[in-house]
Amino acid sequence: MRDDRTEAGATHDVIVVGSGAGALTGALVAAADGLDTVVLERTPLLGGTSAYSGAACWLPGTQVQERAGLGDSTEAARTYLRALVGDAGADRREAFLRHAPELVARLESDPAVQFVWQAFPDYVAAPGRMDAGRSFVPRALPQEELGDLARLVRPAVDRDRAGRGHPGGPLVQGRALIGRLLLAATRTGNATVRTEHRVTGLITGNGRVTGVEARTPDGTVTVRARHGVLLAAGGFEGDAALRAEYGVPGSAAWSMAPSTATTGDLLRAAVRLGAATDLLDEAWWCPGTQRPDGSAAFTLGLRGGIVVDAAGQRFANESLPYDRMGRALAAARTPAHLVFDSRTGGALPAVTVPPADPAAHLESGVWVKADTLPELAGLIGVPADALTGTVARFNGHAADGTDPDHHRGEDPYDRFFADPRDAPGPNPCLVPLDRPPYYAARVVLSDLGTKGGLRTDARARVLDARGAPIPGLYAAGNTSASFTGRVYPGPGVPIGTAMVFASLAVRDMAL
Ligand code: FAD
Repeated sequence: MRDDRTEAGATHDVIVVGSGAGALTGALVAAADGLDTVVLERTPLLGGTSAYSGAACWLPGTQVQERAGLGDSTEAARTYLRALVGDAGADRREAFLRHAPELVARLESDPAVQFVWQAFPDYVAAPGRMDAGRSFVPRALPQEELGDLARLVRPAVDRDRAGRGHPGGPLVQGRALIGRLLLAATRTGNATVRTEHRVTGLITGNGRVTGVEARTPDGTVTVRARHGVLLAAGGFEGDAALRAEYGVPGSAAWSMAPSTATTGDLLRAAVRLGAATDLLDEAWWCPGTQRPDGSAAFTLGLRGGIVVDAAGQRFANESLPYDRMGRALAAARTPAHLVFDSRTGGALPAVTVPPADPAAHLESGVWVKADTLPELAGLIGVPADALTGTVARFNGHAADGTDPDHHRGEDPYDRFFADPRDAPGPNPCLVPLDRPPYYAARVVLSDLGTKGGLRTDARARVLDARGAPIPGLYAAGNTSASFTGRVYPGPGVPIGTAMVFASLAVRDMAL
């Protein structure tokens, strides 16, 4: 990595704005191709939400699935995406499918970037789905391999929110992905990474984007690009005003992006230049368990409990993939609560990121506990007869092993997280609530980032209102509108698509 300061008026071949998985993939590909590349990151840490993530990459038909003997193929993924999204955005879908295997082969040709398949089912029952999943994750990265660069990688959510660094041991998940891409990019000798550079404006000349303006602790600087500017700076999930303007439900306070990191600076800057936008009310949704400080924890993988609305009724299959459960929550009468019994010893029967400390949640009142269901109903403000009726009906379903109301346990995804030891009945996803005391945890609509943004083409070029590319300007990841529209096809789609379109962007710049 070169020096960490910006000389006023610095010029590079490629500017990459942001430092998530898409941004660093773009930077690595550009730098490995011999282009002088600079990464400008707003915060003191690299990786954004990508560093928080599980780093599942949904990149179908690659050598990773082949090594795992999965029988995945580009054709199967095409069938699946067509079934879910139709042919809107078909040009970007085809670019994604074509480039994914090529990109992964290229990344893995560098020993610093290695992946391994990890079981996690695709999210929707449709032709071409892989029930065991097709996404893969980076191998863990010993911190020694990264050396001093490790301190630049954003830690996991819980440690980051508490202002703590990485624990000992190797970097895993999103930290490993960011660490590996960073390592490979800096080893090329062509990549410079500058933190605390908040890009707020785009510079134009001769009818194209030629650079950016960034605020730094030392004042505003101008950085110029010979070939192009890639905007890969996340969405606008952290900006309450933009959320309100575009009608994004939920709340900036409940979003999972690093606090204050992603506020739509580049969306605003590109729109000022005439860029077109799409899907601005959309996000990668998830249920969030409310935390004592008012934030939320990404909640998935329920293996017990039921979720009830403000009327004390179930409104969805609680084991749905998190984006679909989030959509159900957005349509439900709120507040909603996850109601569970004491068979998990007072712990939430679900995975949460960050993990929940039951005592602190109970003390703050975002969780409540009672010896009887009517008492619990009183504490969460739902009609007592409705809650007791809902639980009695659900317990009957648990005994029968079928859920005629919401079909919980019928899909491979539902069963992925279930533990048959929790359910005495025939359906491992239907665990009765019959062991007092009972608990209720407040559930809110959270997100993993907005997924609407700048309209782009199959080469990741930002388009104007007439559909023409704005020369020199590219976007990937949550800065751009996803070609998957209002569907979240499977684990790793946000990161996988960000990586592919960032790579396609810098490839186009090199032409
Ligand atoms: P980010 O990764 O958020 O990066 C944006 C970066 O741009 C940030 O570092 C930000 O500080 C910087 N930035 C913002 N504004 C500016 C500016 N003006 N100037 C310079 N820099 C700026 N997705 C998957 O695909 N697979 C998973 O396994 C997965 N697991 C997840 C688990 C958790 C707990 C969470 C929270 C999310 C998960 N997601 C996962 C979702 C995924 O992490 C995000 O949707 C995705 O990483 C967003 O990538 P991005 O590049 O668009 O933005």
